This record gives sequence, structure tokens and C-alpha cells, in this order.
Amino acid sequence: MSNESLANLLKEERRFAPPADLAANANVTAEAYEQAAADRLGFWAEQARRLSWAKEPTKTLDWSNPPFAKWFEDGQLNVAYNCVDRHVEAGNGDRVAIHFEGEPGDSRSITYAELKDEVSRAANALLELGVRKGDRVAIYMPMIPETAIAMLASARIGAAHSVVFGGFSADALATRIKDADAKVVITADGGYRRGQPSALKPAVDDAVAKAAGTVEHVLVVRRTGQDVAFDAERDVWWDELVGRQSAEHTPEAFDAEHPLFILYTSGTTGKPKGILHTSGGYLTQTAYTHWAVFDLKPETDVYWCTADVGWVTGHSYIVYGPLANGATQVMYEGTPDTPHQGRFWEIVEKYRVSILYTAPTAIRTFMKWGDDIPAQFDLTSLRVLGSVGEPINPEAWVWYRKNIGADRTPVVDTWWQTETGAMMISPLPGVTETKPGSAQRPLPGISATVVDDEANEVPDGGGGYLVLTEPWPSMLRTIWGDDQRFLDTYWSRFEGKYFAGDGAKKDDDGDIWLLGRVDDVMLVSGHNISTTEVESALVSHPAVAEAAVVGAADDTTGQAIVAFVILRGSAAEDEKLVAELRDHVGATLGPIAKPKRVLPVAELPKTRSGKIMRRLLRDVAENRQLGDVTTLTDSTVMTLIQSKLPSSS
Ligand code: ATP
Ligand code: MG
Repeated sequence: MSNESLANLLKEERRFAPPADLAANANVTAEAYEQAAADRLGFWAEQARRLSWAKEPTKTLDWSNPPFAKWFEDGQLNVAYNCVDRHVEAGNGDRVAIHFEGEPGDSRSITYAELKDEVSRAANALLELGVRKGDRVAIYMPMIPETAIAMLASARIGAAHSVVFGGFSADALATRIKDADAKVVITADGGYRRGQPSALKPAVDDAVAKAAGTVEHVLVVRRTGQDVAFDAERDVWWDELVGRQSAEHTPEAFDAEHPLFILYTSGTTGKPKGILHTSGGYLTQTAYTHWAVFDLKPETDVYWCTADVGWVTGHSYIVYGPLANGATQVMYEGTPDTPHQGRFWEIVEKYRVSILYTAPTAIRTFMKWGDDIPAQFDLTSLRVLGSVGEPINPEAWVWYRKNIGADRTPVVDTWWQTETGAMMISPLPGVTETKPGSAQRPLPGISATVVDDEANEVPDGGGGYLVLTEPWPSMLRTIWGDDQRFLDTYWSRFEGKYFAGDGAKKDDDGDIWLLGRVDDVMLVSGHNISTTEVESALVSHPAVAEAAVVGAADDTTGQAIVAFVILRGSAAEDEKLVAELRDHVGATLGPIAKPKRVLPVAELPKTRSGKIMRRLLRDVAENRQLGDVTTLTDSTVMTLIQSKLPSSS
């Protein structure tokens, strides 16, 4: 960004108080903020007591060598024991841990007692394959219970897992296997995706060959039953090896700072970064935030996070947070429109889901499909709705609350990253008067603010960069094998502060609004304008379902605003509508934010985690050769978009 702070354009006046009954029985009250502000480390030491420690920590934080943090350093625990065994020991073995819903309609409910047996067997199987404490295990799987079991089994024996999203290519998998030096790969023959079995094993064979010499064994779950090549020396079937193991395995206690997992960020630029998370601090913050932000009541709630386990959201809010809390959750294998566009709501109705956690990209898709679809299902069990992954446009937020939450449930917009490990900025459902589109306030025990180019905190009403000003328990410890890159990427932009890479503003109440990645911010006639705000203005027009905005080089204004919009079903795409949309943005945000061009398109380029890839749209808007498209869900989208554009401009 230049010296000009982000223009603060959007005014959102709608407010929603917490429901009285939820507030009266909430896990967390406003007092938590005061308590944590008075004694931040004491607050986290208390949260660490949610876990069962084999050796209780006496130290909370060692920050003597910043930014290399040590949390609960002298404590020892076993993460898998905390997520599984202790619930059985507490008498909750019969509670369902996972209601699995396969895409073809098969389902399976696994209790905590069964999960304990499965995780123990899988741990014994990994030991038989030669995996030891300190090794790495790569996991390349569909969304099935064995994925969570494989992660917990690795954690149980002190091996770090590296989950690679099942939609990634053999090349991407090979790079990650090599970088982490993984000894074993756990995969499946395939998984179900859009009504079809989709193979995984061939990509593993390819990747293992490319990462020559690293991998000793491949453990293969039978999911689809499709034919796969099998190397008798190297490959083993999960049901054969795991099936014959003992269900007894005594968990060993590891140091709080023992590595738990490596997770590669999608790496939109350059080599993917292997984000390293460790055990005690990570589990403390994922457990606390999952309990606090969703007001989780483990005895009665049914929780569902729709993310893939291949993303950090799946790690922290399908596996570690919910299971550490003894929650009952739904896990769904497939896509929201298979076999019909009401699939999510059918699942909510079937399991009486009470807490739903999903992404803005999904919410905007549901908006586009129409209000009448969720209206056909009984969604009365829902009581808290969450959002994560991108800034949520106020209109999408309001749609979510109204059409999914019956205008009754709080919506919590949770800001965090792979690097932060757990939620950092979010409303609390029993405390916060929510504002559509804002993540609002750092959670108790978290210090975040917005600074300008010179690292000065901006006043209320100002915009700039989001920074984290104090260490937090679930923070990344480094980039795997590359401390220097860790320092350069996150800790060198502002002295002593973590640079998140996101633009943000503070409103007049001091609440935080995320404005998208710093790389996506536009500079128009000397003003920094956020893509998020212009997109939200477009989405607030009844004809627009989804929008992506980029700044394209322009001789007069430096950058000109170019908007790509997906229209709602009934809207006619013509000159008149385009003019109306430009005027609508001008009227909502001010003349400076009026797009130079508005282009209706059928689809937008998205990463496999569902985020809009503005970088590629910028290439299109500037008539450039497209950059790397390998992380796109569907690269033909770009051809379609390019065909909409006049070849010169
Ligand atoms: P990469 O770093 O490889 O480009 P990524 O940043 O998309 O990938 P994640 O760590 O999954 O990978 O996403 C974190 C980012 O997602 C945040 O930095 C922010 O840009 C965005 N984000 C997540 N949640 C929110 C939210 N509630 N509001 C606004 N932005 C969000
Ligand atoms: Mg990122």
C-alpha cells in the first residue's frame, strides 16, 4: 500500500443484539475481556487447564527470543488423548463424536469409545510401518472419518502430520512430501465428488515417484472400491493393516512444544509455506475458541463445519477444537449441490444441527440458488452461525442470518489464518451486538489492531494494515525448515508486530472490518480503496449475487476499478443494468469508488478453498498472459471470462 491509508467508505448501520436466552446461558460473558485484559497470560494459563496434562505447565510464555515463542513449555500432554480417551474416561464414551454423511448417501455414526479404538489401532499400525516420534506423515484423503483418525493417530505417537488437500495435483503433493520429508503417505482409493468416485491413489503413486526415496509406505483406505495400482512392497490396505491391530495403545506424553502438524498455505505466490504448529498452545486456543465463539454445549449441541480437513479450518474446527471439547459433529464428504441444491439443509434437518460454520463463498452461492431452497427444510435446530475464509459482504451476512438463521441466530464472522492456528477476531454470540460484515473485536486474550505505514495505530475511523501485537498460544512457530522466511514474511514489515497481510479499518466504535488482502487493495487517484468494500456495494444491489473487483492499470487514475459480477437468476444482462450498477456503487460508497467497467460473467475464478483469485482477474483486466492457475478449482472459468472482454482496451 502507498502512504495513503485505506479510504473508509462503507457505512453499515444494521445492528443485531444477542438473543436474550443465549446471552443468559452463554459460556462466555463480557467479563472475559476484562479478565484477559487485566492478566493476559493468567487468562491463557487458565484456558490451558481445559486440557488434561500429563505434566501441568508451570510456565505460560517464553518470549525471550521473539518471534520464536514457547507456550506452556514445561508442560507435557498427548493431544490425541485429550481429543478422545479422556472423554471416554469421563463416562462419555457413548456420545457420538462424528456423524459421517457420505456423498452417495451412506452414513455412519462413531462414538467417542469407537473413535478411541480406531485411533489406537491406527496408531499401532503406524508404529508397525516404522513411524516414530518426530517423523512426518503425509495425509491425502477425501472427507471421511479415517482422515481425522489418521491425524489423531499420528498425533498420538508424536509424528507430525502434513495434510494435503485431496483436490491438489500430484506435483503439489510431491513438493509437500519432499519439503516435509514424509515417511508414510495415508490416502484412499478415491472419494465421492459430484456424484462420481474420484481417484486419489494414482496421484499418490505419481507424487511418491517424483519425491523419490522419501516415502517408505503408502497406507490406503478403501472408500470407493475402484481399481488401483498396488505396489506389494510399499502399499498396504488400511482395513487389512489397521483392522488387525490391537485397540489398546498407551498414549505417551510429549512436550507442549512438540510439533503437531505442518500445513502448507496455498502459496498463491512462490513456494508453499509449511506452517508449523505445536501441541499445547495450539490445542488450548482451538479448544477455548471453539467453546467460546460457538457457545458450545457438548451435551446438547450438534456442530457442523463444512470446510475440508485439508484446510486449517478443518484441522482446528473439525478435528482438534471440537474433539478436545467432546463435541458431537457432522462430517460431510461431498459438495453442496449433490444430488440437489438443498443438500446442506437436508443434513441440518437430519441431524438437528445447532451450530453451523461455513464460508462466504458458499453463502453467496446459496443466495444465487434462491431463498426457496433452504425454506423447504426444517432449520429450527440452528442457534449459532459462523463464517470464515474471506470478508463476508454485509448483504450475504444478512441473508445468512435471515434465510438460514430465521432472523434469530447470531452470526459470528471469525477472522484468522493458517498461521494464527485458531480464531483471533470474532464476535461472541452471547455478548456482542453484531454488525453485518465486521469481525469486530479481538477475542479475549488476543491483541490485534490496525496500523498505518509507519506502524502507528490508526484512530477510530481510520484504515491500514491488520497486525497482531502480542504472541498468542496457537501462533505458528516457524515456516518448516525456513526460519528466515518466517521472519521476513511476518515479522519484518513492522518491528515487533505480526503482519497478517490483510487490510483493515476501525469504525467509529473501534470495531475491526477486514478489507481483503493487502495485495488486492486498489490505488485510485491517490486513494487506497478496498476491493471488499466495492464488492459489498455491488452485492447489495438486488441483481448481483457475487462480485470480484480489481484495480487495472490506468493512464489517468493510476488504477481503474474493474468489476466482474455474477447476476442473480432473473436479472437481464444489458447496458442499462451495467450503468445502474456503476451508479449504485457511486451512490453507496462515493464517486471515487465508481467502477470504470462492470462485466457480467457466469463464474469467478476461485481457489480450491473457495476464495476469489483476484490476481487472475487483474491479468485479464490488463490484457496480460494469465499467471499460475494450478490452484483454481476450474481453469476453464478463465477462458470464459476472457471471451467476455473486448480484445483491446
Ligand atoms: P495463502 O496465504 O497461501 O495465499 P490463504 O491466505 O487463503 O492462502 P488461509 O490461511 O486459509 O490461506 O486464509 C487466511 C486468510 O483468509 C486471511 O489472511 C484473510 O485474508 C482471509 N480471511 C479468513 N477469514 C476471514 C474473515 N472472517 N474475514 C476476512 N478475511 C478472512
Ligand atoms: Mg494467507
